Amino acid sequence: MPDFDVIVVGAGPAGSSAALVLARAGRKVCLVERGPFPGSKNMYGGVVYGRILDTLIPGWWEEAPIQRWVTRRATMLMTDTQALTVDYRTDAWAGPPYNGATAYRPDFDSWLAGKAVDAGATLVCETVAKGLLREGDRPDGAIVGVRTDRPDGDLTAPLVIACDGVNSFLAKEAGLYGEVDPANYTVGVKETVALPRETIEQRFNVRDRDGVDFEILGCTQGIPGGGFLYTNLDTVAVGVVLKVPSLAAQSLRPEEIIARMKAHSAIAPLLEGGEVKEYSAHLIPEAGYDMIPELAGDGMLVAGDAAALCLAAGIWLEGVNFAIGSGIAAGEAATEALTRGDVSAAGLAGYRARLDANFVMKDHKKLRRAAHVIMGERNQLHYPQIACNIVEDMFRVENPDPKPGLRRIVQREVKRSGLRVRDLMRDARDGMRSFG
Ligand SMILES: Cc1cc2nc3c(=O)[nH]c(=O)nc-3n(C[C@H](O)[C@H](O)[C@H](O)COP(=O)(O)OP(=O)(O)OC[C@H]3O[C@@H](n4cnc5c(N)ncnc54)[C@H](O)[C@@H]3O)c2cc1C
Repeated sequence: MPDFDVIVVGAGPAGSSAALVLARAGRKVCLVERGPFPGSKNMYGGVVYGRILDTLIPGWWEEAPIQRWVTRRATMLMTDTQALTVDYRTDAWAGPPYNGATAYRPDFDSWLAGKAVDAGATLVCETVAKGLLREGDRPDGAIVGVRTDRPDGDLTAPLVIACDGVNSFLAKEAGLYGEVDPANYTVGVKETVALPRETIEQRFNVRDRDGVDFEILGCTQGIPGGGFLYTNLDTVAVGVVLKVPSLAAQSLRPEEIIARMKAHSAIAPLLEGGEVKEYSAHLIPEAGYDMIPELAGDGMLVAGDAAALCLAAGIWLEGVNFAIGSGIAAGEAATEALTRGDVSAAGLAGYRARLDANFVMKDHKKLRRAAHVIMGERNQLHYPQIACNIVEDMFRVENPDPKPGLRRIVQREVKRSGLRVRDLMRDARDGMRSFG
């Protein structure tokens, strides 16, 4: 007899959601995590979009370990000496069901994994899944579990759900990924800067548990990518996301790029006097829909970042909700397949069907070109500069000269940039199309 019905590898948001659904369905499920506790190895920028939890854990906002509720969301276009910010604030996001919340991953992931354990899942920490266990130890044998780094640590089950995050070794070993292209990945690096709670609230103009989410374009020293700034109760997360091949092709290190962003006149006053408490880095599967692997094989499903389901589309960086959404779908499809006694790829087809029917694939399809457009050279290098210059000219008062007028300013700026009007028009059209 196998040890379990299902082995879920990785107690991030995808794995814990899958394990929770399976345990609630009465399945014997083992959640294997390499860290000493769920979330201990995990990092991200900092905002969880929690609505996907509404059905899984009704009233989740009353108990989830949240730092601040995001009520201000700003997008900043930056050059070395300028910054133009679209700053949105709403009271509607300050109450249930909320829109976004900052949270620390060790807290959030532990809480979610705890829900799976409460429902009956067995959580095994400090255990690395080293590979797939196959029937008769034959490379072409059916998957019958995972090998772990514990002595006598093989765990058996007819079904394995790989939720082991970006660059999933298990999904690759199962042959679900094709060629891996570094251009499909960005690396995210982040500093957690400690400041007194009152200082954060004064500088970011928020009160109580309200928080701020800043996305920044033009802060990555010419490397395709972007920056972010998120407020926690008494820390601020500040970081950049950088295209991997472009980062490798030049000499600046990520920490230097963050340091330059932090020194910018629009950012420095926000962080002044803060103490860096933590520095972390992690890969992001950036290419979205175009890099999603086969999602099911015989005896195997892949969910979350392991299946490249993070939505990293410019002003949207949403991975936790997509991990939870795909984890739930994997848990439901696995339950269905086990009940029918068919865990072949065909028997697990309900997983893809569920993803296609909900926001996970719909958003990925809709925003398929968005990351590509945002990462394009003109969006990264030229448009922040053009936008900042236009606004600077609009607001500059040069009496006794009269105001030049918007049309003249725009014409002058386009000419200065050396871009062709045809390209600008095409980018505007692509932008509209790629953002759905
Ligand atoms: C810099 C940065 C900023 C981001 N910002 C945001 C944001 O603000 N909001 C947002 O929603 N998303 C954000 N993301 C994306 C988000 O972090 C991911 O999409 C999300 O964590 C994916 O969840 P997951 O459960 O699929 O994988 P993970 O969270 O990576 O969890 C994988 C788990 O598997 C475990 N594991 C891995 N290999 C093994 C193994 N062999 N054996 C046992 N255990 C294993 C790991 O320890 C980990 O616990 C960001 C990512 C980065 C890098």
